[in-house]
Amino acid sequence: MHELSVCQALIGQIEDIARQHRATAVRRVSVRLGPLSGVEPDLLSQAFSLASAGTVAQNSRLEIERLPIRVRCESCGAETAAEPNKLVCGECGDWHTRLLSGDEMVLASVELIQNGECGVRNENR
Ligand SMILES: [Zn+2]
Repeated sequence: MHELSVCQALIGQIEDIARQHRATAVRRVSVRLGPLSGVEPDLLSQAFSLASAGTVAQNSRLEIERLPIRVRCESCGAETAAEPNKLVCGECGDWHTRLLSGDEMVLASVELIQNGECGVRNENR
């Protein structure tokens, strides 16, 4: 399962953050996921509970924020929203568009537990 290797990389990042902040546990993890990332949100949730077992992220809650697809038109220069299977300009309908966002998966924030205290660490903001 592709999502499992994605989660293992994600948990590696979370472990680094937890270590830097001397956290004892992780309460909540938030990721932003584009529809063109090739990652299925449901499979990601399942893989996360498997991959987090025995790590500092064990029993943490994974929140997945869905990102919209944005394209820039090569003809009229407009930046508009698009559908996963139809990356056309929302202004003029031209197919010559460049993807601005929608294919990424980023770790947005991690809520850590340090000495019984809870603190949110925002990444990539
Ligand atoms: Zn256009």
